[in-house]
Amino acid sequence: MSKLKGWKELAPGAIIEEAGNAVEFKTGDWRTQRPIFYPDKCKHCLFCWLYCPDSSILVEDGKVIGIDYDHCKGCGICVKVCPPKFSALEMVMEEI
Ligand code: SF4
Ligand code: SF4
Repeated sequence: MSKLKGWKELAPGAIIEEAGNAVEFKTGDWRTQRPIFYPDKCKHCLFCWLYCPDSSILVEDGKVIGIDYDHCKGCGICVKVCPPKFSALEMVMEEI
């Protein structure tokens, strides 16, 4: 049986040399689910904005105005941190 290679022996697949370059790419197409925002239920506590790892919660004048679907990866964190008594966000499956 042949021995598997360790990670140090593998050729690099891709290298990101500059931090913060995600803004140049539409990374949202990795998503399998998307958050839906219900503005009428939102109390603008901004928890979703604070916790979103992709800075994809759009805020204007201290209020959530929507979601940047070009960069949202559909992790669902915003939905988890939105207080249940507000439930202003919901995850749905992406349509293919
Ligand atoms: S699903 Fe994840 S990436 Fe998308 S807006 Fe919510 S927290 Fe951000
Ligand atoms: S966490 Fe929920 S209630 Fe708070 S700003 Fe985001 S969507 Fe609105």
